Amino acid sequence: DAKIGVLALQGNVSEHIDAFLSALERMGHGLSSEVFEVRSPADLAECNALALPGGESTTISRLIDKNGLYEPLRAFPGGIFATCAGMVLMACHVEDPRIHPLGLIDMAVDRNAFGRQRESFEADLAIDGLKGGPFHAVFIRAPVVKSAGNAVHILAEIPQGIVAVEQGRHLALSFHPELGEDTRLHERFLQRQGIAILVS
Ligand code: GLN
Repeated sequence: DAKIGVLALQGNVSEHIDAFLSALERMGHGLSSEVFEVRSPADLAECNALALPGGESTTISRLIDKNGLYEPLRAFPGGIFATCAGMVLMACHVEDPRIHPLGLIDMAVDRNAFGRQRESFEADLAIDGLKGGPFHAVFIRAPVVKSAGNAVHILAEIPQGIVAVEQGRHLALSFHPELGEDTRLHERFLQRQGIAILVS
């Protein structure tokens, strides 16, 4: 069944573990799934999908290189659920030279795009294809997508830019769904990995 890894080099790891566990439970896969921390290429080889958490993208990028995870992440066959700093890492282009982006989503991302005056804020977002009404999103020193290629499906946009995208099995979000109780985006991601909702 589902084996979900959470990259645990830096950032908000336990929130992602808890959010995936509750999404899997809601989908009826609570008992047959595992959610665990990933720190090495060997850990990564154990999972069929991965979360890239928020945190400090420059630090996470440096630790990815240091732990020999850069090439294994680029070659990872499963979907990646990336939030905030994780979204920065998924890009093809990032202005900051300290970031070594993974190039897994065809997009250019701006770090800290909202500036110091608006370090954090919340917004109710209309997300393309998400049933059940707007998604309450928490943004913390958030990035935005500046441009995206044709293969990228834009899921949500606010006046400052694109804040949610999908490419193939990957999902990248400027905001932090793992900080709330709403697991609809986790469930959507898991469904796209072939993990169906079990009806009992
Ligand atoms: N601005 C941070 C960065 O680029 C990301 C912040 C976050 O993940 N909450 O590293």
